[in-house]
Amino acid sequence: MEELLKIMNEKITPEKSDLVKLRSVNDLRKTMDGYFARLKEAAETRNRKIAWCTSVGPAELLYSMGFEVYFPENHGAMLGAGKNADKYIPTAVAHGYSPDICSYLTSDIGAFLQNETPLQKSGFASVPKPDILVFNTNQCREVEDWFSFYGRHFNVPVVGIHTPLSISDLNQEIIKSVADQYHRLIPELEKVAGKKFDIDSFSERVGLSHDGCVLWKKVLQKAKHIPSPINFFDSAIHMGPIVVMRGTRDAVDYYKILLAELEERIDNKISAVPDERFRIYWEGMPLWYKLSNLAKLFAKLNTCIVASTYCNSWVFDDLDPQNPFESSALAYSKLFIVRSDSVKENVLEGLLHEFSIHGIIYHESKTCARNSNNRFGLQNRLFNQTGIPYLEINGDLSDPRCYSEEQSIIAIETFIDQLSGQLTNSRI
Ligand code: SF4
Repeated sequence: MEELLKIMNEKITPEKSDLVKLRSVNDLRKTMDGYFARLKEAAETRNRKIAWCTSVGPAELLYSMGFEVYFPENHGAMLGAGKNADKYIPTAVAHGYSPDICSYLTSDIGAFLQNETPLQKSGFASVPKPDILVFNTNQCREVEDWFSFYGRHFNVPVVGIHTPLSISDLNQEIIKSVADQYHRLIPELEKVAGKKFDIDSFSERVGLSHDGCVLWKKVLQKAKHIPSPINFFDSAIHMGPIVVMRGTRDAVDYYKILLAELEERIDNKISAVPDERFRIYWEGMPLWYKLSNLAKLFAKLNTCIVASTYCNSWVFDDLDPQNPFESSALAYSKLFIVRSDSVKENVLEGLLHEFSIHGIIYHESKTCARNSNNRFGLQNRLFNQTGIPYLEINGDLSDPRCYSEEQSIIAIETFIDQLSGQLTNSRI
């Protein structure tokens, strides 16, 4: 997290005042520090069990059973943001992991094999040793293979949920199958946790997760305002609590603070990008190692990235404490990444309209096929439906060797210039 927060601090130094600081970043830091302090204490004292969880895995269930929960994808993002992924990936490759698979996975395993982690800057001896690893394949199959590496290394159980992919019709059969898999996790979790599952505690966590997600959705929806008080680069940092603390009071409390600040910004006519002129939708993963550079580039172009698939992916507002198993199955199978292209097109079309989008940028991330939605013609179909122009840039979430900054800057500047011509012609 320090690496991610460093980006924010870099963004908000006075000489870079073209980007407007969100003061909630101080509360974000406190919230995330609290999370890592709890994790560190559990890792050092082993007074609480530690579960590793995928970023859209069953966090609420794990928190309800008293685990501290660690998210390797968050660690992958830290390695990317710290511009260290390319130092570690070759080590994983030498151990048989292809350089073409998820660079979160390869950088994380490579760093582990080199006995390094950015968490060492926060006093951790290493990544916290898991007592159990729990995945959901709703996002990709990589997560199971990733967790299996650590399961073998630490000789601890790896359990998970297998969700069907490319779901068009999210029917009862799928929801029942996923809910049943949630139930089947419980005996192993009880064995490792050393305590019985408690339905009231699970319901409470599902309720907190719902409330946090609703607040996070409200935060993102503030960007519908013209000009927007928040941009994608802010959201990519401020999403930390909804990723790692879903199902906790801390996430709920934090998003109340952030939401209040955004409302205040709207009242005071403060926008994330001063002189916002163009509004862009970002499709695909962030380029963690270029977040700050891209934020400055778009600000210079009077362009605000107001909405993204990535940040919207943590809106699980179907969660329902009255019906924790089925609603978890529904929420985590309704996720954008697990849906068919036709569903994705409808979702995107709605968002383009809601957020008054002028153009779309597709980031084709070399090592994350599941988050690169421009590989099978979706971008053309969406253009035919909406007439909204798009740009495709090649890169990667973490591996900087896949990204040509010079080429991308030219392409982005040209794209915005073309939008400028269109807006002038249509007198918007
Ligand atoms: S969705 Fe993409 S980035 Fe996330 S774990 Fe899977 S392959 Fe990696």
